[in-house]
Amino acid sequence: MMKSQGIGMTSQRTRDRLVERLRNEGIRNPAVLAAIGSTPRHLFVDEALASRAYEDTALPIGLGQTISQPYIVARMTELLLEVEPSKVLEVGTGSGYQAAILAKLVDKVYSTERLEALASQARQRFRKLAYRNIRVQHSDGSWGWPQFAPFDAIIVTAGGEDIPRALLEQLAVGGRLVMPLGNRTQQTLVSVTRTPTVYERVDFEPVVFVPLLGGAG
Ligand code: SAH
Repeated sequence: MMKSQGIGMTSQRTRDRLVERLRNEGIRNPAVLAAIGSTPRHLFVDEALASRAYEDTALPIGLGQTISQPYIVARMTELLLEVEPSKVLEVGTGSGYQAAILAKLVDKVYSTERLEALASQARQRFRKLAYRNIRVQHSDGSWGWPQFAPFDAIIVTAGGEDIPRALLEQLAVGGRLVMPLGNRTQQTLVSVTRTPTVYERVDFEPVVFVPLLGGAG
């Protein structure tokens, strides 16, 4: 028998269990489930929390921020993929986990984070794990990332009262934005799809996110 490879082996088994759980909770897209099954979430949290990385729960990542619950990551990713995006903007890099999931499913991920420390930590993680299609910028993402607009999809991983106007403008026609909308304690997961003439909004389940801060937020 092979010798235990420690966390590596444990992680694959616990990751498979997480995927099974997400499937039972209604996540259907096989590509999304595969991305979650192959992404080492324990490397996106502090070592002290690594043992809890495959629970379906949000975890603190320092500076008052959190890595989102895997179910929510899967759900938002699933909603985005429906428009078959190739270029995606994320507002709120945080740990980098959501961006890492997206990077397995689309061509190019642009992610902005307003906290310098988190932005540079995420950059280091992406380098270490050899993700080559994620670009991180330390900036107020409520202004989007005009240089690379328009985006086929935009995911905002922090909650706000309104969708920043700049983000709606930087969404390509046929594209979709997914964001938690509401007050500080409770939001609704919302998707907005841009057609040639209008923005179509659909409301989904209640969610709880840290607040979107900054100029246009
Ligand atoms: N997607 C992240 C979740 C991070 S929590 C992950 O997978 O781990 C939300 C993040 O949004 C926090 O790191 C917070 O600092 C960041 N944030 C809040 N307002 C922002 C803004 N206006 N621009 C960019 N990032 C913002």
